Amino acid sequence: MQSLDSEKGLIKFSHCKKDIFCSYVPKLCPVCGQSLNYRRLEDAPISIPSPFVNGHKQICSFLLIPTTGTFLRGYDGRSDLHVGITNTNGLVYNYNETGIHRVGLGWEQCISVPLVQPDMYGLLKQWDKYLEEFSTGEAWFPNRYDEHHHNCYTYALAFINCVLAAENKQQMSKSEFTERFVIPQTRKASKYITLYQEITENSFYIGDSPHQEKNLEEDKLSP
Ligand SMILES: [Zn+2]
Repeated sequence: MQSLDSEKGLIKFSHCKKDIFCSYVPKLCPVCGQSLNYRRLEDAPISIPSPFVNGHKQICSFLLIPTTGTFLRGYDGRSDLHVGITNTNGLVYNYNETGIHRVGLGWEQCISVPLVQPDMYGLLKQWDKYLEEFSTGEAWFPNRYDEHHHNCYTYALAFINCVLAAENKQQMSKSEFTERFVIPQTRKASKYITLYQEITENSFYIGDSPHQEKNLEEDKLSP
């Protein structure tokens, strides 16, 4: 298996009424074997950016990684996820059975949810202090850890709610935060993982092009 550079993202183009995903544009179409010319602008190659980012470069964000391996290597879509929060220097604060950790390595391929808008200067200035003080609380001692009820997600969400309270904003439940901010990202990520795995194994992923089918219908209807 060739390994791909996930940072660069993937490429999509259309030919033979198919959407073809790959890591580089081939000289010949993998479906018809003809050299690639594009009849329509929307058939030409476009890049599909990777949904994964280097968490250490995401300030004041909520991050997700698989507990073992990385999203693009060794993640089967079912294994547990681990979450953390970054400070303004990309240090990832996270909680597990051995307590709070502040790490500058290991979160290079993450799903990231930014928590602060760039113009929220007041909050940005306080962020590191809030995060450090919050994390020293005894709620996050190792002995309080519980895999299901008091875990990395409990910690991250409690911090988010602490910030919301300081900003006089409404608290968020776990399901609300997950549905609004996490699920849209994980959905995108899981589509990308499927494409990536196919392309790693077969060089291409070939799917039906919704565009083309729609246009065919229009062609039939026009006189
Ligand atoms: Zn073709």
